[in-house]
Amino acid sequence: MKIGLPKEIKVKENRVALTPGGVATLVRRGHSVTVERGAGVGSGIQDGEYEAAGAVLGSAADAWAAEMVVKVKEPIAAEYGYLRDDLLLFTYLHLAADRPLTDALLSAGTTAVAYETVQLEDGSLPLLTPMSEVAGRLSVQAGAYHLQKPVGGRGVLLGGVPGVQAGHVVIVGGGVVGTNAAKMAMGLGAKVTVLDVSHRRLTYLDDVFFGRLTTMMSSEANIRALLPEADLLVGAVLIPGAKAPHLVTRDMLPLMQEGSVIVDVAVDQGGCVETIHATTHDDPTYIVDGVIHYGVANMPGAVPRTSTFALTNATFPYALLLADQGLGALNRNPALRLGLNTFGGKLTYQGVADAFELNA
Ligand code: NAD
Repeated sequence: MKIGLPKEIKVKENRVALTPGGVATLVRRGHSVTVERGAGVGSGIQDGEYEAAGAVLGSAADAWAAEMVVKVKEPIAAEYGYLRDDLLLFTYLHLAADRPLTDALLSAGTTAVAYETVQLEDGSLPLLTPMSEVAGRLSVQAGAYHLQKPVGGRGVLLGGVPGVQAGHVVIVGGGVVGTNAAKMAMGLGAKVTVLDVSHRRLTYLDDVFFGRLTTMMSSEANIRALLPEADLLVGAVLIPGAKAPHLVTRDMLPLMQEGSVIVDVAVDQGGCVETIHATTHDDPTYIVDGVIHYGVANMPGAVPRTSTFALTNATFPYALLLADQGLGALNRNPALRLGLNTFGGKLTYQGVADAFELNA
């Protein structure tokens, strides 16, 4: 199959959808790969590395002319002109939130497989997990930085030092983001408390961390009780398909100490802190009632090199299936079949159809 790898042109997107290692595997299997010049530069991958792996370098149009285009982010308006009915597109799409792109894919008749709806039998979303891992780990790094006095924080070192107590990291939501935040916080030597509504999840965390963190059932009373001693609060809640519930409401903020930090990773679903709003890497924080709020909606963008390798580790096996088997891969792999969002000018994913009151 002819595979194209365009450079991401969405603002501040530095990830790339294939690594040179992935290209080498595809080429070894008899496929050809056209890489847009400069596609990997934002992730520290040079054109020469792709060439050495067997890719042909070309323009954006050359990459988009392939039978299958592999990307990271959804096509933006400037890319709609590349959509065709004999194109297989494999990327994050988030169509339910993007009517113009949905219409563009449908009118072009493009076959689009979305990373975010590929779903395993146990309900997990394997192509979203790596970015939650990155964001969870980054949340503690970002929080630790903003706790420093010169940047407005309360001047607490999360790990403490001998003779001085460690900072307290309170994590609301013990899923992928929360677990990775907990690992980082414990690694720094902080005191860690994780709240979740799932007893099973709390049991798991207690087991794997040998009781080195405190688990608590998530309730308003428990959150209120923890806020006065939280140096860093990480929001990591997800209710699939719904907006995040506001678990820390505005009236609770005065319970927190001045200069303490909230990193609400769930901001992309509206946030679990009422006072959070989306911010950018250029201006990541703002202060409400003396509490620093960090609300970057695309946290993995801060570490594109790590994120590219983490993402492609997860996406590549599916890209390879599509390259080797074409659309037949969708019939043979139920997880990948759930990724199919548009085909032949029709919506094929119920959630997106529901969002626009269209037929799937
Ligand atoms: P997940 O499904 O693995 O975990 C969510 C957890 O929240 C589950 O354990 C669930 O039981 C728990 N939960 C649900 N209701 C709760 C409540 N009332 N109190 C406490 N816990 C509750 O999800 P995830 O992969 O960890 O993602 C968490 C959030 O982070 C999502 O909104 C996701 O979109 C977001 N995210 C953001 C970024 C970013 O850059 N900002 C990056 C990746 C993920």
